[in-house]
Parts: sequence; structure tokens; C-alpha cells
Amino acid sequence: MAEKQGVDLRILKAIFNITNSIGSELELEKVCDLMVEKIYQLVKCNGCAIILINDNKVKLQSEIGFGPSIKDVEFSVDMPLIKYILSTKNKIFIGDIEKSYFKYSMPRGDLTSSMICMPIIVKDKVKGIIYIDSKNINAFSSNHEYFLNILAHEISIAIERAIAYERIKELTIKDDLTGVYNRRKFDQDLREELNKSIRYVRNLSLLMLDIDYFKKYNDLYGHQRGDAILGKLGMVFNKHMRNTDKVYRYGGEEFAIICTETDRENAIICAERLRKVINEEKFEGEEDIGPHNNLTVSIGVSNFPFDATELDQFISHADNALYKAKAAGRNRVVA
Ligand code: GH3
Ligand code: MG
Ligand code: MG
Repeated sequence: MAEKQGVDLRILKAIFNITNSIGSELELEKVCDLMVEKIYQLVKCNGCAIILINDNKVKLQSEIGFGPSIKDVEFSVDMPLIKYILSTKNKIFIGDIEKSYFKYSMPRGDLTSSMICMPIIVKDKVKGIIYIDSKNINAFSSNHEYFLNILAHEISIAIERAIAYERIKELTIKDDLTGVYNRRKFDQDLREELNKSIRYVRNLSLLMLDIDYFKKYNDLYGHQRGDAILGKLGMVFNKHMRNTDKVYRYGGEEFAIICTETDRENAIICAERLRKVINEEKFEGEEDIGPHNNLTVSIGVSNFPFDATELDQFISHADNALYKAKAAGRNRVVA
């Protein structure tokens, strides 16, 4: 009866404590770790977990107490518990699993006798679940449910904050127009990658790419349509580059591509493939560009350690190679 009348002081203190220790933490992973740790300390449970769900992908973000029993479990939106919560947005509170509909679908099989699954809802969508279980039946009370409900709300705020933070972080490293990384990120990444390559004696290649006869396109159609071409080129890069190759807008209509662990020969192959893709791609109004009535690019290639052993030399080799590609007639790769 006492339990029905209110939440005990210990739980209120715990909530206050957790909210305070999360504070303005921006990294969602840390928030989840911290929360799981606190729940485990405060609630007599055998296992506690936070599962995050994004675009139908399910991730066991943080857990305590599961041990090896959870290792081989593949979490997915098709798991009965998760499926139920996604479709109803309701919590699941089970005192005795034996008597429940979910009897055969516990992630930890018969190690679980009672449990609570609390949905984490962000903007009306289930973005995660807080899960606690016990090997004893009726291990949890409505106070626990209340406690998890408030924590789920806390995590939903942390998720929203983390999404906003990621977006801001993206803005500081991405170029608005083309969606590729910006010049600031290039300066930072190239220095880091070159240092790594020197330390671990690994190959590193740099491609410098410049659109051919682009001034003419702008003169003919105006800056706005020129910008649209740059935007489309950004999409072409994102579609055709390997995950290990990062593309940056170096300035104006010039782009740089850092290819990690790539030797000179493979860098040339990569540049040639890219040149061909752009040559074959259809760009609006390109029939009025250059002597070949086609939008093309020239690419200069530089390789560490083949062409350079320090930063300035590494960039200037790619620049000079690009200049040679232009002088030799454009729409080509020079190393
Ligand atoms: P080249 O083949 O020698 O590269 O000839 P080009 O006409 O492309 O000459 P260059 O690279 O020297 O000139 C770059 C031109 O690209 C100048 C400008 O008209 C255009 N450009 C540079 N940045 C932007 C941009 O952000 N938006 C648009 N629309 N055009 C740009
Ligand atoms: Mg150009
Ligand atoms: Mg240029």
C-alpha cells in the first residue's frame, strides 16, 4: 500500500543524482554507460541494459550483469520484445515470465524470471529501451517502473541533445554546398594522416582535382548554376569513392582526396577511375563547356613516401602534377 502512495525518497535522490551526473554530457554513449551503472547500483537486478534503435538498426549500447549469456544474441527489430515495444510504444512489465506471452523470447532464456522494458521515446518515435531483469519472480515494483520511466525521459533528452551536437559537429567539418569535408578538416586530417604514415611506415596518397574550363560555365550560365554543378559533383564523389578515401573541398572548384594506405600505383588507378566516372556523368549544360563539350576534371597525384617525405612537399607535388595535367590538355591524371 505504502508503495502505491508515492515514490520513496531513495528513488527521488537517485534520480536527482543521475540527472546531476549526466549534467551537460553530450556523448550519448557516456550517458548510457553512466545510467546503466547507476541503475545497476540502485535496483536489485541481475542484468541492466540500454538498447538504442535508429533507422531499424538495433544496438545494445550499454549493459551490466549479463556476462557471456548475451554474447551471441543478435538484437534486431524482429525480436518479440522489441517488436512489441516498437508497435505499441508501451512498456513491458512482467512479474513471472513463466506465465507470460514472452516466455520463449527472453534474450537470456530461462535465466530471466521477471523484467521491465521501458521505451525511450523521442519525438513520438521509439529510439531505445531500458531493460532490467532478475532471476527471481516479482523482483520489481511500481516504484522501479516509475524510476525507469523518468530515466527513459532523461535519455530521450540526451538523445535529442546528442543528435543536435552531431549535427553541429558535422557543420564545422563539412562544406555546405557539396556535402564533402571542408578545407579546415583537410588541413587537420592531412597532417594527422601523414604523421601516422610516417610513424607506421605506411603509404599515403593525395589527389588534387580541378574542374576543367569551369570559368566558362559560370560566365555562360551564372554562378548559381555553377554551384549546382559543384553540388552534383559532391554527390558523385560520395557515390563513387571508397570508404577509406576522404574527399574535401580544397577551395572554389578544386577538391582534394586523401587515400590512406594507398600506394602510388593504386592512387593513379583510383584517380583514373574517378576522372572517367566524371567524364561519363551527365551534367546539365556541359555541352557548352570546353573543346569537348563535356564536363571533365584534371587530377594531380602525390604519394608518400614516393614523391615527398614532408607535408608541404606532399601538397606541392600534387599541385604541380595538377598543373601539368592542365598544361597537357586537361581531362587527365598526372602523378
Ligand atoms: P582550368 O581548366 O584551367 O581549371 O579552367 P577554369 O576555367 O576552371 O579556371 P580556374 O580553375 O582558374 O577558375 C576557377 C573558376 O571556377 C572561377 C570561378 O568562375 C569558378 N568557381 C570557383 N569557385 C566557385 C564556386 O564556389 N561556385 C561557382 N559557381 N563557381 C566557382
Ligand atoms: Mg578549373
Ligand atoms: Mg581552379
